Amino acid sequence: MKIAVIGTGYVGLVTGTCFAESGNQVICVDNDPEKLAKLNNKQIPIYEPGLEVLFERNIKKDRLIFTNNLKQAVDFAQIIFLALPTPPMEDGSADLQYVLNVAGEIAGLMTDYKVIVNKSTVPVGTADKVSALISSKTKIAFDVVSNPEFLREGAAVEDFMKPERVVVGTRSERARKLMDELYKPFVLSGNPVIFMDERSSELTKYAANALLATKITFMNEIANICDRTGANVDWVRKGIGSDSRIGKRFLFAGVGYGGSCFPKDVQALHYTANTYDYKFSILDAVMRVNDKQKELLVDKILTHYKTTDLKGKHFAVWGLAFKPNTDDIREAPALVIIEKLLSLGATVTTFDPVASENVQKYHSDLKINYADTMYNALNQADALLIITEWNEFRTIDIEVLKSKLKQPLIFDGRNLFELETMKENGFKYYSIGRPSV
Ligand code: NAD
Repeated sequence: MKIAVIGTGYVGLVTGTCFAESGNQVICVDNDPEKLAKLNNKQIPIYEPGLEVLFERNIKKDRLIFTNNLKQAVDFAQIIFLALPTPPMEDGSADLQYVLNVAGEIAGLMTDYKVIVNKSTVPVGTADKVSALISSKTKIAFDVVSNPEFLREGAAVEDFMKPERVVVGTRSERARKLMDELYKPFVLSGNPVIFMDERSSELTKYAANALLATKITFMNEIANICDRTGANVDWVRKGIGSDSRIGKRFLFAGVGYGGSCFPKDVQALHYTANTYDYKFSILDAVMRVNDKQKELLVDKILTHYKTTDLKGKHFAVWGLAFKPNTDDIREAPALVIIEKLLSLGATVTTFDPVASENVQKYHSDLKINYADTMYNALNQADALLIITEWNEFRTIDIEVLKSKLKQPLIFDGRNLFELETMKENGFKYYSIGRPSV
């Protein structure tokens, strides 16, 4: 099939590459010249494990090309995917300007039937809005479909190639057939393509992200109760996670959720509820608790030093990305924690396997040092903070750690180590929802 993907970010690039991998002809469009230059130079502008092999193979086979020319893409494709940003506005609502502007442009360029598929996360009613906009500009037949994306950064290729489910919102039989054909190769193992109406599909995405954010937040509150009662959240997690009604995943306590999706989608769903005169009280609490959770590690530091400021203290921070296996730093808890440390007078040296470049680029005002290895970040540090659970942080050389840190002191926001191991090795070790040793 002939596919266009407009917006070549984390979602669009993976979508375009994976559709090409299943034999389709794909044109990806982006308006960021820097990104396009890289893509046309066969360089991937993001860090996403497993993407490179597919990207190179499909470029070589002439199934995947990149352009800034929307007209070329619209002329070429039967199905046009929108994978555009929907960032939060000041009031928490999703900013639809990118989606609506591009939809309007497409309307002006169409010469035959098109299926316009929204992969961006958009509020209930957006498909209707986009349809109305296109109808106002053209007489040519088209369908607008909602097809929210559920991939996880860091595992995006695997998620896209073998989705647990594909959700498609459309009431058009013509669009349904095309979408069914397109997704068939991805669900050969029997996972469902779930067809529904556009509004239900749009809400499904928000419901999924809001529920996951709530699960994380609930577990963070349980961890906070553990901290106060002497219980250990690791045991509580194992105890409840083996109940199949609860499940084992998303039960890890930490320093709060971040990323480009959960914070904005929780806010946007809360906003949508408000516009329908419904107060989504659970989400109020989720947002409040998550903001507080990002301060927890710094609170533990202040309590440890029995002080209200951190002047003269130097900290090593491992992990900048909002989660492991990505270079995405949008809404990363590390940024909040580092800003708080700096505002209290501390100095900071950080290490992240792939995300440092993005912090340097987008937060050049942050006065921090960047180390080239995880161990070099420790030089002369009063303590180590662990913010992102990269695998390489799990297997540490205890002796190197001890020799480089001024004191054997760790504040672990991801519960990476066994309490016993830390105690035996003479560390003062604080983690989340587990007794300090
Ligand atoms: P992104 O910012 O990484 O990518 C968006 C891309 O669109 C950028 O490359 C940008 O240059 C391009 N763009 C902006 N305006 C354009 C225009 N007029 N023409 C062409 N290109 C344009 O965003 P993302 O993380 O890929 O997210 C895209 C959407 O998918 C959002 O709605 C997001 O909520 C949703 N989503 C994201 C994820 C994720 O893990 N990142 C997962 C599921 C859904």
